Amino acid sequence: MNHDIPVADLGPAGEIMAHAVDACVHCGFCLPACPTYALLGEEMDSPRGRIFLMKEVLEGELPLADAAPFIDRCLGCQGCVTACPSGVPYGELLTTFRATTEQKRERPALQRAVRAGLLTALPSPKLFRAGAYLGQVAKPFKSVLPRALQAPLDLLPGRVPAKFDMPTFVPAQGKRRARVAFLAGCAQQVLAPNFNAATLRVLARNGVDVVIPEGQGCCGAAALHTGARGQALSMGRTNLAAFPTDVDAVVTNAAGCGSGLKEYPLLFKGEREEEQAISFASRVKDVSVFLAELGLEPMLPLAKPVRVAYHDACHLAHAQKVKAQPRSILKAVPGLDLVEVPEGDLCCGSAGTYNIEQPELAGRLGERKARNVLSTNAAILASGNIGCHTQIETHLRRLGSPMRVMHTLEVLDLAYRGELS
Ligand code: SF4
Ligand code: SF4
Repeated sequence: MNHDIPVADLGPAGEIMAHAVDACVHCGFCLPACPTYALLGEEMDSPRGRIFLMKEVLEGELPLADAAPFIDRCLGCQGCVTACPSGVPYGELLTTFRATTEQKRERPALQRAVRAGLLTALPSPKLFRAGAYLGQVAKPFKSVLPRALQAPLDLLPGRVPAKFDMPTFVPAQGKRRARVAFLAGCAQQVLAPNFNAATLRVLARNGVDVVIPEGQGCCGAAALHTGARGQALSMGRTNLAAFPTDVDAVVTNAAGCGSGLKEYPLLFKGEREEEQAISFASRVKDVSVFLAELGLEPMLPLAKPVRVAYHDACHLAHAQKVKAQPRSILKAVPGLDLVEVPEGDLCCGSAGTYNIEQPELAGRLGERKARNVLSTNAAILASGNIGCHTQIETHLRRLGSPMRVMHTLEVLDLAYRGELS
């Protein structure tokens, strides 16, 4: 697409955005892959439409306020990136555009407060835990609260799970086959502490020494994807300093965090840590990728077959292009019957803070996903991302389903312990 973006004024960010706009040939192959286009049927709520809107804003042809509602409705799911035959890096365009324009955004006071609250609480397990307890007290009064405060309450579990204190080191069982550093995550530690406990057990069982660096913090993805680049940079610097380099991989078990860490080269573009960020990101692996490459230690056959549906988190399938590995490690469980979810490539509506900032659209996508999941008649839904887990479980319960929703590594952990049924 021809453009007149003032690249020289915008620096490295300008180059990134101009390259993406340039690469789009306006063919429209991305439209059927876009969840908001599927729901709203509007060109401006499609990838192609949003690329045009961002170009117009960058060129000074369109006020930011006119484009903002359409850009805000984008989930950042990158379904369009998978579908695009021209390789348009839409994710880089969106992230950089949001960071470039955030200072000029005008938001209502309540929206500003919710946003600030989220960006403060989400990256801190301590604050998030305190917020989760407070949310439980507020839940019974939900109907009298403003809509902006109802959405986060909807997503809180009925009971905050007991805390799992992360160790700083977990030794390999048996012969050591690898040594990795592990990202502990933030909200996940509060909402689903068993994800980490199960992951550490499975890694140890497979002969992996796991280091959990004490100085690590939030990956910064939520901040980066909502335009808070300064906060994301500071979080990134913390992690670059905390993680050791003498490991076989930096392993994560949350798709969104893995994508966030892999985006450090984009985050640090033009900064003094750019080279360090590129090297760090090259070592980051989702735990499913790491285990598929390592090769799993065998498991005993299940007493009777278990039907498991696998949900592709957008930040694994589209952002990291990881689809085969989670399926291959699940299929390694003898007796596990793996089934696909219809419309599997469509986002569940979670998308970082989207289900809080755009509750109506997120709710429609969540219900659509839950109905597709239910159509599989599986006993368990496995996925590799806490956001998807929370969103889909919430909608399954609303539809009255008791289907278990688990992290892929929880399924493996139960299989190793002979408790998967
Ligand atoms: S598929 Fe790619 S090139 Fe075609 S309109 Fe969409 S983003 Fe542009
Ligand atoms: S990132 Fe997702 S919601 Fe946004 S334009 Fe692409 S497909 Fe649509």
